[in-house]
Amino acid sequence: MKYKIDDKILSVINVIPNPVIVVSNDELQSVNSAFLEFFGFQSLEEFKKTHACIDKLFAKDNGYFSPSDIVGNEYWTDYLFSHPEVSRIVSMIKDDNEVINFELILKKIENYSDYIIVFNDITTHIAEKKEYQYFAYHDHLTKIYNRQKFDELFLRAFEDKKRYKDNLSILLIDIDHFKMVNDNYGHIIGDLTLVALAGLISKSLRINDIFARWGGEEFIILLPRTDIEAAYTKAQEIRAIIEAHVDKELPLITVSIGVTEMNKADTIKGCLQRVDKALYLAKEKRNDVVKII
Ligand code: GH3
Ligand code: MG
Ligand code: MG
Repeated sequence: MKYKIDDKILSVINVIPNPVIVVSNDELQSVNSAFLEFFGFQSLEEFKKTHACIDKLFAKDNGYFSPSDIVGNEYWTDYLFSHPEVSRIVSMIKDDNEVINFELILKKIENYSDYIIVFNDITTHIAEKKEYQYFAYHDHLTKIYNRQKFDELFLRAFEDKKRYKDNLSILLIDIDHFKMVNDNYGHIIGDLTLVALAGLISKSLRINDIFARWGGEEFIILLPRTDIEAAYTKAQEIRAIIEAHVDKELPLITVSIGVTEMNKADTIKGCLQRVDKALYLAKEKRNDVVKII
């Protein structure tokens, strides 16, 4: 038996600002004004002429629910109702290509095969959550990994090194006389210089290398499966790229780099102290690389 929405109920659901639909099996029985407004139709009949059913509009392969996830031939509504563990977030692409994410609130109407479904727009919420997660691990200015993420990745690389007896080298990079850049050109140019430097270094690294902002104008790189000689060569390459780089909007800079390789008896702390010492020695000359084994 199909559930009939009378005018009174419809006038109530029309007040709801979210799209609301009543679905029986796969067929839309009733929709509210917010639904029609969202899709730009005047009536349900008009909507049906263009779209066989609403679930065909749920985008596939984006990590959210779509009917293609269903094994067998259950109606998507029955499937969602009988699988409360399945995420009820769907993604729909509007005519202007805008992606909207909805959380579906699904209620079965007692004694009927119909469902009433409310579409709760959570697009902004999802975008904010993604941004929040991104910046938990990335530096706001340069967008490379922050120190927190570096600590986590260093621990993992350290464990891998011990297990697989691989080489693992570390580079600590510090910009020379960076205070002068800020003093002479201002903080904004100083910031842009840091962003440009991070971009330059990123471009010269391999996919498995780990690059992070260590703090202020200091950067750190982990080179897995790299011994100290290869790491030193890499550091010299980075130093030379930075020295040679010319951007007419930005001041010329140089960097000093400390290099070390983790040894068998090392702790993370010991290794960091050694690379810091190597950097300190490189600062005696500046625009220099020093390695300590
Ligand atoms: P040295 O060659 O000995 O490394 O000299 P230095 O001037 O680079 O070293 P110091 O550590 O004295 O100064 C680092 C400067 O980096 C001071 C600080 O104002 C600047 N700095 C740190 N973080 C930022 C940032 O996020 N933006 C800008 N614009 N400057 C920063
Ligand atoms: Mg410094
Ligand atoms: Mg410095």
